[in-house]
Parts: sequence; structure tokens; C-alpha cells
Amino acid sequence: MLILRLHSHYVDLLKQEAEKVHPVEACAMLFGNLSRNEVVVEKVKFAPNELQSTVRFEIDPTNVTAAFTEAEEEGLDFIGLFHSHPAPASPSPIDLKYMKLWGDALWLILSSTEGNLAAYQLSDGTVKEVTIRME
Ligand SMILES: [Zn+2]
Repeated sequence: MLILRLHSHYVDLLKQEAEKVHPVEACAMLFGNLSRNEVVVEKVKFAPNELQSTVRFEIDPTNVTAAFTEAEEEGLDFIGLFHSHPAPASPSPIDLKYMKLWGDALWLILSSTEGNLAAYQLSDGTVKEVTIRME
């Protein structure tokens, strides 16, 4: 079972960003270190939600490229995507569609109305909830 380790500092940052842009969905790319059973978040790269939507998000490809280049130089792996929902922290039908395009990336979702975080991963064609360990 995969565990996502997330320092409380990052939890604060994610919540601040979600509050700032609420009710629009906040979004970010997550980088860090991957091992077999554990993923440790070491870098959160926020980007504007190009759609300014309350139900979906899109990151400008220029921001994606810049974030990936920077992380690579720092020796960090891509872990997954973060976004907020002004709704419960579970994947929407749109999220499920995009999860299929992002392979085994983790999807970290913050409910900006309920304040909780949840993480998901598509594995063998099914969406599984990933345990989050806050530190
Ligand atoms: Zn979503």
C-alpha cells in the first residue's frame, strides 16, 4: 500500500492557496522522492488555474515544463497533481477522465469547504485511495 508523506508546512501552503482562490480550484504540481511504498513531498509548485473554474483546472504547459525542469535540476521526481474542490475531496468525473492520462501520478485533493485532504491513484484501472501521513 502506498503512503503519501506530507509535512504540515505543505498542508498549510495548500490550504492558504485554496483559500486565496476559492471558489476557483487551486492547482499545483507535486515533486519529491519516490520509493517503493512511500512518496515524500519535497516541493509544491503552484500554478494559476487557466480555466478559473470551480469544477475543473488546467495548468499552462509552459508552467508544467518550467516546474519539471526545475525539479529535475533539484533531483526531485514528479509525484502528482494537487487541486482543490469547493466540494468534497473525491475525484470528479472530469478528474477520473484525466487520471487515465497521467498514469500512476497521485492526485491530491483538498476540499476547500470541508478542509480535508485526500489522495488517490489509478492502479490497474481502478481508483484507490492513498494513505496520507502528515508530519
Ligand atoms: Zn477535481
